[in-house]
Amino acid sequence: MAARMNEFVRSILTLPTSEAAGDAPQKLLLHSCCAPCSGEVMEAMSASGIDYTIFFYNPNIHPKEEYLLRKEENIRFAEVHGVPFVDADYDSANWFKRAKGMEWEPERGIRCTMCFDMRFERTALYAHENGFPIITSSLGISRWKNMAQINDCGERAASHYPGIKYWTFNWRKGGGGARMIEISKREHFYQQEYCGCVYSLRDTNTHRVAQGREEIRIGEKYYGDEDAD
Ligand code: SF4
Repeated sequence: MAARMNEFVRSILTLPTSEAAGDAPQKLLLHSCCAPCSGEVMEAMSASGIDYTIFFYNPNIHPKEEYLLRKEENIRFAEVHGVPFVDADYDSANWFKRAKGMEWEPERGIRCTMCFDMRFERTALYAHENGFPIITSSLGISRWKNMAQINDCGERAASHYPGIKYWTFNWRKGGGGARMIEISKREHFYQQEYCGCVYSLRDTNTHRVAQGREEIRIGEKYYGDEDAD
């Protein structure tokens, strides 16, 4: 853990400091997609003494019941750690507008690039308006995601503001992926079973039914339950 902490601190300290921030301590804005993905990221950053705030902006999540479940879990965990939590808009109509024509794109394709772009654009804007020189996201810790795709989107969003950098730290390294599961079980987090949007819900259900499994039942599965993986 100590080695990982040092790696965190070294990695963040090598990021260029914004001119606007001068010598002030670097504040970081963490875009969080959900409690399970951000749990390990949050604990590692807290242990490394990084001053961070959570930014929850995920208008992709559908239906709203699932969105609220994921958000409430994240708020609960942020409160336990005493970490500030910014609850941004659920402007799902905007998300659907941007996803138009991409309804049948596969996961990790252009719809996902749009989805990451949209979430990081808002994160970077908030960072710009509120004095955060560094942004990053918990999205990359999931083994289901393409980290290069996420990092490209993060860097593109940050590039609109001269004083802001996207931190491309690899959260999966050094056992981060395994600790993500451990923390989720310890905290008995809600376990989402699809990426988030209505199209990923549809495609996951199609896959499950083809395998003879039941369709997803929202709000029923929690890490640490007997049948949870
Ligand atoms: S599959 Fe996931 S990342 Fe891709 S568009 Fe849907 S919610 Fe966004």
